[in-house]
Amino acid sequence: MAYQMAIIGYGGMGGWHHERLAKCFEKIKVTGMYDIRPESREKAAQKGLYVYATAEALLADPAVDVVLVATPNNFHKHYVIAALEAGKNVICEKPVAMNAAELQEMIAAAQRTGKLFSIHQNRRWDTDYRIVREILSGGAIGTPYFIESRVLGSRRAMHGWRSYKVDGGGMLLDWGVHLIDQALWLIDSPVVAVDANLQSIFSGEVDDSIKVVLRFENGVSYLTEMSTNCLIPQPRWHISCTGGTAVIEDWDCHGKIVTLREDGPMQWDNDIVYTAAGPTRTMAPRPVHTMKEQPLPPLKSDSIAYYENIAAVLDGMEDLIVTPQQALRVMQVIDLAFASNEQRHGLACHI
Ligand code: NAD
Repeated sequence: MAYQMAIIGYGGMGGWHHERLAKCFEKIKVTGMYDIRPESREKAAQKGLYVYATAEALLADPAVDVVLVATPNNFHKHYVIAALEAGKNVICEKPVAMNAAELQEMIAAAQRTGKLFSIHQNRRWDTDYRIVREILSGGAIGTPYFIESRVLGSRRAMHGWRSYKVDGGGMLLDWGVHLIDQALWLIDSPVVAVDANLQSIFSGEVDDSIKVVLRFENGVSYLTEMSTNCLIPQPRWHISCTGGTAVIEDWDCHGKIVTLREDGPMQWDNDIVYTAAGPTRTMAPRPVHTMKEQPLPPLKSDSIAYYENIAAVLDGMEDLIVTPQQALRVMQVIDLAFASNEQRHGLACHI
């Protein structure tokens, strides 16, 4: 049996969900939509969706099992609570809310109604991220201590509603929520400090070039960096572990893992070396024959698994993978990142 889904907010992402489900997953069928813009309603009608005259009409339709909220961020709370209270299961686009307090209200509604409530944190299924999880999970290159996760664009400003505070715009709420969700799902330890530098270089009132450093109780220090004005690319991931270094260069997952050779003697003198940096022992390049280069694990991942999990939860077969409680941790970190940026220093916490 297929579950029927209706979408509130049929823009870029609403349309993407519709297309993806139609192509790749028959257990959830998008049948209807509501959007405030006539052009979005027209587009949906052309694609064969039923266009509800109001959001209330959509929520009152007993045929709808799941409501997907894909409006700008400032409307998420209203629609999610209304849909839960209408007895619908709800998926909300990220960021689930403008802040943790809003999300608490949404969680209370989900608890009151007992309906499914999940957040579309699809980047947990990105192949590059899954490769990082795989590298760290076996401990083959030791224990991580510095992780750098970057998404760097070069088109400068945040666009459309993303450039207004009132709509929940800005880079931290846009990509930051993905990278922080990935961090919290990767490192199994509480966050004990957040230090954020949120710059607005081209976007007026919202942040568009940001660095957020999370320190975890287990000692991992995790930098997330996002920019709209980076004209020279940096690796998507750079990972320092006690036994080696891993790099993923780009979305196509070019990269490598480098560890030390354990076979054979380490034939090199520990004398001062005269390098371009001057005479140095510490920073002299390590002789190549002492290192071993390996390819990244050959892994492929697909975010269709997100919907598969939703259908399996509705079937009573699986637990929810992306839970509101996990999203609450992310929003708490984001709240603290905004506060840290205001106060211009790192803030201690236990999240
Ligand atoms: P968009 O501007 O392309 O689409 C938003 C749509 O919502 C528009 O059609 C607009 O008319 C409609 N809308 C605005 N206010 C509304 C209201 N009050 N009621 C009903 N409809 C309303 O934006 P988008 O890029 O599709 O982003 C939508 C959401 O999806 C955001 O929360 C965004 O963060 C999220 N998103 C997630 C991902 C991801 O990878 N998970 C990617 C892009 C966007």
